[in-house]
Amino acid sequence: MFYQPLEYNEPLFRPPGEARSAILQATIGCSWNECAFCEMYTSKKFKIRNFDEIKKDITTLAEYYRGYVKKVFIADGDAMVLSSGKLLPILNEINSQFGKLQRISSYAMPRNILAKTQSELIELRDAGLRLLYIGIETGDDELLRLINKGETFNSTIEGIQKAHEAGIETSIMILNGLGGKKYSEQHAIKSAEIISKINPKFLSTLTLSLPFGQQHFKNRFKGEYIQQSVVELIEELKIFIKNMNVENVIYRSNHVSNNLILAGTLDKDKGELIRQMDAAIIETPRHLMPRSSGVL
Ligand code: SF4
Repeated sequence: MFYQPLEYNEPLFRPPGEARSAILQATIGCSWNECAFCEMYTSKKFKIRNFDEIKKDITTLAEYYRGYVKKVFIADGDAMVLSSGKLLPILNEINSQFGKLQRISSYAMPRNILAKTQSELIELRDAGLRLLYIGIETGDDELLRLINKGETFNSTIEGIQKAHEAGIETSIMILNGLGGKKYSEQHAIKSAEIISKINPKFLSTLTLSLPFGQQHFKNRFKGEYIQQSVVELIEELKIFIKNMNVENVIYRSNHVSNNLILAGTLDKDKGELIRQMDAAIIETPRHLMPRSSGVL
């Protein structure tokens, strides 16, 4: 674990790609906090931290990491909920205290990208915001409604394309097993369709984890959830990968929640990824269920 010199409001999350970044909490929790599968911030009441507190943290982080750390990640759940009037001074402060950085990034929801004008997004990009991590989870409208994501196929595409047009790259997350057996095929096919339209720079698949047990999830999920076996999860992933049509997307399935570790560039490595999935399907006992996990 990379040492961080701040006392954070825990729990603190960051994407695997930000393991060597300085983490700055500009907000606490998630402004939405309603997705049926997500327990990341359910213990926190959402709040925007005041600029003086944030500035103090930037000073502490910069004193430790200036010249050493190349990236800053703005936490918690969705820093893009901040207006550009609030976000821009934070980015400017990071730049003035850290000096030259490779990038600043944060999690984002498509609707909070859409809430900004194109020129605001360009301003944020010019101030160093180069990458947004977006858990779109699925491209299937029915499933998006059942998990209470607050987005649709169209709003997701519009938000992400707007970021791309402003020169902000995206790293997109899809959640394998999100709809269980009943919605598996539509989840895989519509997720492949949405990724094909977006063509993000980075794509990762995580697997649905139920840290508080299946019943807790079933109480929040508005559909009928039937858990998939490991083989069924890999088969869903295979339909997803097979149906995608993208260019130069860096793909990873290496989260601790995943049953099968995969990595490649799509579409180039599609054949090899499918070969690895086919081998795993043959080797895995058909009725093996995923380990119950405390992973969030
Ligand atoms: S998945 Fe993202 S938007 Fe949904 S509750 Fe969790 S942090 Fe918030």
